[in-house]
Amino acid sequence: MKKYQLMAPGPTPVPSEVLLAMAQPIIHHRTPQYERLFGDVRAGLKRLFQTSADVLPLACSGTGAMEAAFVNTLSAGDTVVVVRAGKFGDRWLEMATAYGLDIIDLTAPFGHSVPAERLAEALKAHPNVKAVLTQHSESSTGVLHDVRSYAAVTRGHDAILIVDAVSSLGIADLPMDAWGIDVVLSGSQKGLMLPPGLGFCALNDKAWAKARTSTLPKFYFNLAEERKFLMRNEVRFTPAVSIIVGLREAIRMIEAEGLANVFKRHDRLARATRAGVEALGLELFAKATPSPALTAVMAPRGVDSEKILAAYSQSHNITIAGGQAEMKGQLFRLGHMGYAAEFDVIAALAALELVLADLGQPVDFGGSVRAAQKIFAEKS
Ligand SMILES: *Cc1c(COP(=O)(O)O)cnc(C)c1O
Repeated sequence: MKKYQLMAPGPTPVPSEVLLAMAQPIIHHRTPQYERLFGDVRAGLKRLFQTSADVLPLACSGTGAMEAAFVNTLSAGDTVVVVRAGKFGDRWLEMATAYGLDIIDLTAPFGHSVPAERLAEALKAHPNVKAVLTQHSESSTGVLHDVRSYAAVTRGHDAILIVDAVSSLGIADLPMDAWGIDVVLSGSQKGLMLPPGLGFCALNDKAWAKARTSTLPKFYFNLAEERKFLMRNEVRFTPAVSIIVGLREAIRMIEAEGLANVFKRHDRLARATRAGVEALGLELFAKATPSPALTAVMAPRGVDSEKILAAYSQSHNITIAGGQAEMKGQLFRLGHMGYAAEFDVIAALAALELVLADLGQPVDFGGSVRAAQKIFAEKS
């Protein structure tokens, strides 16, 4: 028997408390019970998003939440700035292209980040820009973008800042109101320790003002319509009832630990993972601030990273992830977000040593584990 372990950068493991909560019989969504449940969840989501704005849950994957944020705030003929340095950043470009908007494309090589100064210059040169689209944690490269500085730039401009926080909500600090981010969107299957199937969108007043004049087509994802129901703790269409029940439990668990402690835990797990892989002589893919959600690692020279994934899976029943698009074969990604703890990192590193040895690489057994333990042994 090989115990299955999900260590991909999403979807992530779901704690038994949440699984058990979700195993309850389905309740109808037009009932007082659902309204009470939804009231609790709405309040909890505001605390997680660190905002006084409404957070709207949608039955969709994270990309659905990206699209909802996009079509509700933008109009035909609008110019948007896409700030991208990875696969998820590319998704914004693809979306803006699909909807026929004018695009100002600010890119950095994968593994890097676009400096806020470049955004400031672009907005100065193009006062007509309506929105800036970016990621907080870029899951394809393992980089955390400096959205706080991006927000400092957009605050003084008519453009709204739309941040994809799918792999940072409940992982890295992202105080929406304090930083002045106009739209934060996320999904259920990363930091929130839930199955895939929920997206979330939060819009501040500046973003809702754009929504009032937005002309891009929308029906299922019409957030202004959805919000009318939300105000009464109701939903417009059938919600993902079980995942909403799970969400109430996940919020309870996050708040029992304390949001600040949750961020600290992710930071420790990420530092230990980085120390571990570096102790094995491997190179991190992130050349800018690394994300606390996952660690992207370059495969050793001459080794196809897909072989590393396959060995994790076949020899150890552990799922990790590889490189996407042009990074396929070059890197592998270890997730340590959501329901992840110190000994999950130890297991991932111990398995990595066995995997590398199996692929004929020289390995100092215990070297990565020792480096991670040293981080965990540090006080606070
Ligand atoms: C996971 C993820 C998404 C959403 O992907 P879906 O497959 O649509 O849920 C979007 N952005 C980032 C940064 C992600 O990590």
